[in-house]
Amino acid sequence: MEVIRKVNKMQEISDRLRREGKRIGVVPTMGYLHEGHLSLVRKAKESCNSIIVTIFVNPIQFGPGEDFERYPRDEEGDRKKLEGEDVDFLFIPEREEMYPLGYQTHVEVTEVSRGLCGDFRPVHFKGVTTVVAKLFNIVKPHVAVFGEKDYQQLLVIRRMVQDLNFDIEIMPGVLIREEDGIAMSSRNAYLSPENRKRAAVLYRSLMKGKESFESGEKRASALCKIVEENIKSVSEVTIQYVEVRDAQTLKSIERVDRPAVVAVAAIIGSIRLIDNMILGR
Ligand code: AMP
Repeated sequence: MEVIRKVNKMQEISDRLRREGKRIGVVPTMGYLHEGHLSLVRKAKESCNSIIVTIFVNPIQFGPGEDFERYPRDEEGDRKKLEGEDVDFLFIPEREEMYPLGYQTHVEVTEVSRGLCGDFRPVHFKGVTTVVAKLFNIVKPHVAVFGEKDYQQLLVIRRMVQDLNFDIEIMPGVLIREEDGIAMSSRNAYLSPENRKRAAVLYRSLMKGKESFESGEKRASALCKIVEENIKSVSEVTIQYVEVRDAQTLKSIERVDRPAVVAVAAIIGSIRLIDNMILGR
């Protein structure tokens, strides 16, 4: 695996790969990799023969007081994991390489970025779309894989790609969980053992919602209530939102009469966790 730190070097390599007729798949990440990330790499490999993983903890998608400074980092460990997956290139630029002095351009998707996480992290999606647009111009992929773990992000990126005519296929990867059901996340590393146990309530509650849906409850408000009440049964968990939305558009719905996503965000011991479950797919 070749490690690339410079934008122009990455662009040269991608140009060469394209000339050679390679199909480039990219998996953008912030590092501290786990099986969730690696599942996206495997997904990319299904349809691509040159795999590029990017690692960049993007400062502009973190708001003031969020965890940019203490976001976990482990370049050495990440490299080993990616080598184990036969990844071809790791693009891992420094902050100054991505945002040199004088940088002033941003990409913003309006509607889909609002609500859910957008309400609690006002600058987040603008930062994400900006960095992903830049990564697309640097890596020049045919395919980009994004996890359904960050469901709103996936739809925001899809919207951007459609609106800005990026000639890139956006491929979703299913949400990968730990054995106890908790969604894999780099941020789980911060949870104390007690909070790690508490955090599993998000998955259990989403499962209760899914069970009710499958036994006939179609009202979005009732499903939200079931999930919320289950989460509230565990102490020290502060809910930010529990919402049922149309899985394709993220618009609010009253009844789940088409595929829907139940999305939750909660704070557990100062760590913000998100999770979701798709209904009717
Ligand atoms: P991150 O490093 O958290 O920015 O995530 C990089 C990519 O991995 C995003 O597309 C995420 O949606 C995806 N991802 C993170 N956790 C998981 C997971 N548990 N299952 C599937 N994909 C994930």
